[in-house]
Amino acid sequence: MNILIKDVWIVSQDASRKQFKGSVYVEDEVIQEVRQEPIAVEADYEINGEGKVLLPGLINTHTHIPMTLLRGYGDDMVLEEWLKTRIWPVEAKLDRESISAGTDLGLLEMIFSGTTCFADMYFFEDTIAERTIKAGLRGFLGFSLIDFGTPEFKPEELFSECEKFIRRWKGKKGLVTPVVAPHSSYTCSPETLERCAEISEEHDVLVHTHCSETQHEVSDVQRRYGVRPVEQFKKTGLLNKKTLFAHCGWITKGEVREIARAGAGVSHNPVSNMKLATGGFTPIPELVESNATVGLGTDGAASNNTLDLFETMKFAALIHKHHRWDPCVAPAQQVLDFATIGGAKALHMEDKLGSVEEGKLADLIILDFEKPHLKPCYDVVSHLVYAARGCDVYATIVNGKPLMIDRRVLTMNYEKVLWSAEEQGLRLTGE
Ligand SMILES: [Zn+2]
Repeated sequence: MNILIKDVWIVSQDASRKQFKGSVYVEDEVIQEVRQEPIAVEADYEINGEGKVLLPGLINTHTHIPMTLLRGYGDDMVLEEWLKTRIWPVEAKLDRESISAGTDLGLLEMIFSGTTCFADMYFFEDTIAERTIKAGLRGFLGFSLIDFGTPEFKPEELFSECEKFIRRWKGKKGLVTPVVAPHSSYTCSPETLERCAEISEEHDVLVHTHCSETQHEVSDVQRRYGVRPVEQFKKTGLLNKKTLFAHCGWITKGEVREIARAGAGVSHNPVSNMKLATGGFTPIPELVESNATVGLGTDGAASNNTLDLFETMKFAALIHKHHRWDPCVAPAQQVLDFATIGGAKALHMEDKLGSVEEGKLADLIILDFEKPHLKPCYDVVSHLVYAARGCDVYATIVNGKPLMIDRRVLTMNYEKVLWSAEEQGLRLTGE
């Protein structure tokens, strides 16, 4: 299959952050040509890029995809109460059918809002993997480990099932990459974390976990183990370049340096943090200053309530300006970097994803800039972060395959996905 996109404004996100009007030619999963001059070739799909902007597909570095089924189910509640009365009772009822419906809904939403790759951690991850491949997105899928067990497995089954999951999906060179996902340092014992470190080492897979999301979590870990979460991860062998920490809202300057030195990645989830009122501010200026790897995440749709990374980019840019009383903090280009090349780095994919360059995998999105809220346009990157929305995405291409063109999805049955999600959501919540 080949695709030619002509006369489009290209936001390359390459090392020099070059932008220019030109053409992009995609064949066999790969970006073959990117240039200013016209490319004369016959293509299966030819897209006229006039009035449009092409950029690398956005990368969501932290989510729990099937939680789309819990979108809007329990807003404006205190975190503990929300978990105890809304989330956990419903999660206990999850099964393959509901996971399938919630995953499809999340995948459809991501295709529609320009996310081409995501790092997930949830339950029934095999089902999530199957749905992801079917829809055509790229997923770094975390097998969740939590000491009191999951809706799918008993505590004593978790390690062997985790290894089975990794063996099933590792090295298949496809859209799915398996990841080990201990839930956090307050729900996993030191022994569990150590075993996860061993699994990561043995199978050469990434680790995805929650870290210092709330003040309560930090003091809880401190009280039980005498150290803060970052130190706990370090002691158990999980502070290294293979680890991706979600949140880090309550980390110290010393911990920022430790994370940067170790080469671990941070997934910043400003919308979820603000909605749950976690109170901490991920120290973005310090992380950037220390050269740490930063990506952006939405977290699950239950605490966001969308998977729209354009919205997340805007919040990421605004929250730190407001907090620091400094509008120069978190500039648009830096935030776009988090959502593209930064996310790719956090997933160790920067040589294959995160920019529009010849030889990289063709994960691309095209936005329609012929919209009232995108006129006039003095600075495309400014518009991408501060004015554009997920619904401005005109086309989504993953691994050289178009998943949506002209807002028409090609790999999923739109009506069926919406209907199944509605049905499964009602079944789970009993509403
Ligand atoms: Zn999360």
